[in-house]
Parts: sequence; structure tokens; C-alpha cells
Amino acid sequence: MTNACIRVLATGGTIAGRGAGGTGRAYAPGQVSIDEMAAEIRALGIPVELRAKAIAAIGSQDIGWREWDELHDAILATENAPDIHGIVITHGTDTAEETAFLLDLTLPATKPVVLVGAMRPADAVGSDGMRNFANAVRVARDPDAAGRGVMVVMGDQVFAASDVRKARTTNVDAFRGFPRGPLGNVTPSSLDWFGPPDKLNRTARLRWPHALPQVDIVAAYAGMNPGVVDALLNGGARGLVLAGMGQGNAPAAVLDALATAVRSGVPVVRASRVDQGYVDRNLEIDDDALGFVAARSFNPPKARVLLQLLIANGLSEIAEMQEHFDRR
Ligand code: GLU
Repeated sequence: MTNACIRVLATGGTIAGRGAGGTGRAYAPGQVSIDEMAAEIRALGIPVELRAKAIAAIGSQDIGWREWDELHDAILATENAPDIHGIVITHGTDTAEETAFLLDLTLPATKPVVLVGAMRPADAVGSDGMRNFANAVRVARDPDAAGRGVMVVMGDQVFAASDVRKARTTNVDAFRGFPRGPLGNVTPSSLDWFGPPDKLNRTARLRWPHALPQVDIVAAYAGMNPGVVDALLNGGARGLVLAGMGQGNAPAAVLDALATAVRSGVPVVRASRVDQGYVDRNLEIDDDALGFVAARSFNPPKARVLLQLLIANGLSEIAEMQEHFDRR
């Protein structure tokens, strides 16, 4: 393989974390510079040229519009740089699925874009960061990686942005795919795809907006206070996602409040607080009558990202919105 050139965009997270003192637990994310990480990759003898840019040095719980806008811009700029083969984004794991999905929905699938993080800081015993980073570089420089949309590389596996979710708080094997499992297995020296690219020549599905509207998540639980819906609407929510029980359920008074929100022009998507499974239309709840959208395979954080983009793109018809939640 020739020396591919990879654009590396750093945002922070545990992959750049330090301070655990080898065996300690406490550490600060975003401490290791991207230049230090690139130097380690060079020292490993991996045949790649890394062009690094620091976008931020934060824990991904603090990521938001400024960083997303910069990432999107920086990736789009590589479209006109024929020498750049792919893009690697270093990112905290807490919200990696949100950033990956947001970019996946708004970028053409021309060059591989790979998000990577770590569960253990750089100076911890058994740190997974440099291995994950080397794996991400392995994916981004692979000739067969383009046309698969944005991907997340963690724990020697490659996931599609639409499938990936963080499923464990501390274990290095922290990520899962739903409804699909991984797209492939990767190590620093090997890469096995389980099938051909499914998004070859795909253009951006939704336009990158000037800003993202406020969309809030309503967490459902037994005995919940239905007043939370009005509180969110009064706080400026322009869309709501229900993190419902089971198949996207909520107590009757909450469903009433959500249906009232729909009638006042605020779209509502029903998702589930359950880790895996579909939320389909019109099973226990009459979505057609109440005007809800069903999140299908998307969990609440991803349903929120998609709803934000749909609102920002001026899409408000329920059938049209549902079609976007049905697609993958
Ligand atoms: N909470 C931090 C973040 O998401 C650190 C956790 C991690 O990267 O795994 O950036």
C-alpha cells in the first residue's frame, strides 16, 4: 500500500486523556496533543502521512454546534484535495454516535470518515487509545473504505454511524451496532470487511444548516410528571423526542401533552429508552391519529439529531419525516 495521506481532526476525549497515573481512575480528557499522537503513529512505522488539525480539546459531553460546524467545514474542504485519502476524527466516546450520525447525514460518502476514541486514557495500563487510532488510520487509508458513510472504529471493530451506539460505560468493548453489527474487523495490520460498500457515490442526504434548532428529549418513566412536556415547550423546544418505555410508550397524560404539541406545530418523534429494538408506527399508539413520527431503529440521541436536521431543512410533513426515519 502506498503512503496514503490522512486528514486528522482532533476534538479531545479520553483518547487524548492523561492523568490516570498508570493505575489511577481519575484523569482529564483532551490532554494529549494530536501532534504527539501522530508522532507515535510514525514511530510505529505505519506507512501514512498524517495532516493534523486541532478543532478542540474537550470531553465530548461538551461538544456542540461550534465544533460540529468546524468539523463539517474541514471535511468538506478535503473534497477538493485529491491528495487526501480519508479523514480520522479523534473524539470522546460519550457522544461519538451523535457526531458520527450528524456528519453521516450531511456529507457525501466520497472519502472515508472515521471517528475514533478510547475508553482508557493514554497513560493508563492497557490503554486502548493508540491501538484504536492505528486501527482508524488503517480503515481511513483502505481503498475499499469509501462509500460506507461515516464510521466509528472502537474495540477492533468498524461500525456504520447509523448503527453505532455506546453500550457500556467503562469496558473497552463498549460499542455495539443496531440493527446491523459491525461492518468489519480491524487491527493495525489487518482489515476484513463483511460486505461491499453500500453508499457508493451517495450525495449528502440533508443540507448542512446555519444552526441547529432546539430539540429536547422527554424521558419516560413510571409515574412521570406530564408537566415536563409543557416545561420544555415553554423553554423553547421546536421539536421533541420521546425516550419512551418499551416500544416508545408513555403514560396517557404524557401522550396527550405530546399530541397537543404536534397540533401546535412541534414535531414529536417516538423513540425508546430500551437499548435495542424498533419503534414502529401504529402498534400500541395510533401515530396516524396523533401525528407522531416513529423513530424505528434510532435511539433517542440519534432521533434528536435527525429531527434537528429535518426541522433545519424545512421538512415538516409527517410522512416525509417518517420516510427519513425509515431510511438507514
Ligand atoms: N466523557 C468524555 C468524552 O466523552 C470522556 C469519555 C471518553 O472519551 O470515553 O469525551
